[in-house]
Amino acid sequence: MTSRLTWAIALTLGAAALSGCAAPESPEAEAGLLSYDEFKAQAYREDDTGVFIVNGDELVETETDLENAYSRYVDSTLGIETVEQALAVNTVNGQDDKWPAGTAANLTYCIDTGSFGNNANAVVAALDAAAATWEGTATVNFVYASAQNRSCTSRNNNVVFNVRQVRGAGYLARAFFPSSSRRSRELLVDRSSFSNIAPWTLTGVLTHELGHAIGFRHEHTRPEAGTCFEDNAWRALTAYDAASVMHYPQCRGTQAGDLSLTQLDRDGARLLYP
Ligand SMILES: [Zn+2]
Repeated sequence: MTSRLTWAIALTLGAAALSGCAAPESPEAEAGLLSYDEFKAQAYREDDTGVFIVNGDELVETETDLENAYSRYVDSTLGIETVEQALAVNTVNGQDDKWPAGTAANLTYCIDTGSFGNNANAVVAALDAAAATWEGTATVNFVYASAQNRSCTSRNNNVVFNVRQVRGAGYLARAFFPSSSRRSRELLVDRSSFSNIAPWTLTGVLTHELGHAIGFRHEHTRPEAGTCFEDNAWRALTAYDAASVMHYPQCRGTQAGDLSLTQLDRDGARLLYP
């Protein structure tokens, strides 16, 4: 994986080094944790939306949410929260972050095709293929509402989410979780995704992003990865899977080719959306 690939900017929360200063250290510093300022500094803030992106491509909507994410990180790392067992679904206040069946069957999206220019056809096709991958395994159904393309912004309430191109972002693409507000339910695809990203393809990247959009967390936040820990706000659906479509290869993942669903991904998706 080349360092140019922006998924590599994922926060490496466990890697904070103790500072050598003699002043009394906070419990956080003593435990080798990032300070809040350091945690915030590692988040990427999107210019146009103002939201924070942590862990490479995961959305945090407000500064208050970022503070809460920091608290979860501290609590998790200090062992205050208990890690629940074994694909992993995001949780909010202990509840699974998933779509109700009615919405899961009708996950409508528009594409701001104008923002993609010459790449419009490519993103339409790649999203269709990525959606088909999840639809082939779980009871979810993505619906391309092209009639909404002309007003395809985060203010369009006729769709569940909108898709548009950005430039110079700190990622190839980023999505959202089912609990995200409509304003933040955007799938943003950076222009760099249309350059050579081998061994990945645009379809592979979007398959990973649609995984977030239906609730799945990064598989490498699980303790078995031994690196790239994020927090404990998730519930395991299957045994740990180093080859999961939701596992960054650079976090000791074993998927060497394109990002694609493993059998455990399919099993986990079916468990969440039977
Ligand atoms: Zn991701």
